[in-house]
Amino acid sequence: MGVTAILGGQWGDEGKGKIVDYLAKDADIVARFSGGNNAGHTVINDQGEFKLHLVPAGAFWPQVLCVIGNGVVVDPDALLDEISGLQKRGIDLNGRLVVSERAHLVMPHHTVLDGLSEIAKGSQALGTTGRGIGPAYTDKAARIGIRAADLSDVDALLPRLESVLDHANAIITKVYGGEALSLEEVFDSCKRWSENLSPFIGPVEHIVYDAVEGGKTVILEGAQGALLDLDHGTYPYVTSSHPTIGGAQTGLGLLPRQIDAVLGVFKAYSTRVGSGPFVTELLGETGDTMRERAKEFGTTTGRPRRVGWFDSVVARYSTRVNGYTSLIINKLDVLDDFDSIKVCSHYELDDEVVWDFPGSAGALERCTPVYEELPGWDGTTAGVTKLADLPDEAIAYVRRLEELTGVPVDMISTGPHRRESVEVRSVIQT
Ligand code: GDP
Repeated sequence: MGVTAILGGQWGDEGKGKIVDYLAKDADIVARFSGGNNAGHTVINDQGEFKLHLVPAGAFWPQVLCVIGNGVVVDPDALLDEISGLQKRGIDLNGRLVVSERAHLVMPHHTVLDGLSEIAKGSQALGTTGRGIGPAYTDKAARIGIRAADLSDVDALLPRLESVLDHANAIITKVYGGEALSLEEVFDSCKRWSENLSPFIGPVEHIVYDAVEGGKTVILEGAQGALLDLDHGTYPYVTSSHPTIGGAQTGLGLLPRQIDAVLGVFKAYSTRVGSGPFVTELLGETGDTMRERAKEFGTTTGRPRRVGWFDSVVARYSTRVNGYTSLIINKLDVLDDFDSIKVCSHYELDDEVVWDFPGSAGALERCTPVYEELPGWDGTTAGVTKLADLPDEAIAYVRRLEELTGVPVDMISTGPHRRESVEVRSVIQT
């Protein structure tokens, strides 16, 4: 299997966690490379139902080393809570979780700044999860971030923490009228993190490099999705990191030649959380039905997700920026009871036909979807594990998605449980 990236093809929440958990049965390493605990994967397997925010979804296979790369921003308390929560449920990560020493920390002032800046933006708010992720990446780029490695010598960290906090407190109090954070309290937290997190901090680039060169099987676990990428997404309604394939390389120190396969995970329809253009959005009754059936409420925030039909303009663009070697179509079961199913083949913009995803948010707001209508299916896909057991119309639908994106589908997911998965490549390609 070599090195396989599992990337979100749309706006995140595609069900990557379920897929990684399924594929990790054959993996030696599962590595996160971007985002923070704003990401949320729900994984359901024989051990139960789990909500993961920072820990990679390979955690449930005892042979897997879980890695958090330098491209991830780590909220130490969130990570420690997650580790101990898993421990209580019999998932022991001691000796099998490594956090890059180069990963930046989400500090208490980042969370405060995230909340204050969203409130200040009013109707222009981005709809962030409020977990401090954006401000942590901002400080990383501004070169005033604190990294996991800094926890190894907290006394040396103190003077820098003081100047970082002075700067953050000036913004909190003078720009937003908020309350300053206490240096002493933040420093105490650093000492506690140093003690509790140190056993997990290590040289990820070397560990991953050695594993890859040694022929091990490595899964790169994406968080969020291509359309939320800081560069390639629907800016400014994007996340602060790179959930695309380039982010997988810089976020782990991988070499381009080391990545063997790139799997794009898509829902059989579309969703997005937060603000920003969404051409195939369904606002009426059909949308409500889809949301309820699909249980489209955020894992991290509980927010209702916006829903819509599958958008192949998005899928082709996402394929362009990620270079998928194959696709995985998730949540096909959500479409089970629809009489007919629409797929957006292209857009219209100011009376022009548009096949390629526009770069400007303003242009996207003016695009209208052009749909093909495909028949729904009698019977159910829910829980199906063999291609032969899927209704013909469901297979025809997946085949049409392949045609519209130009990429073969490797796998179909028919339910949230690990076992509700259909491996299909050879059949669909014929
Ligand atoms: P991720 O961040 O990409 O892993 O996605 P989330 O976990 O945020 O959201 C996906 C949701 O869909 C979770 O609640 C999963 O349990 C659920 N899910 C995953 N695959 C399927 C599927 O094939 N069918 C159904 N009905 N639910 C699924």
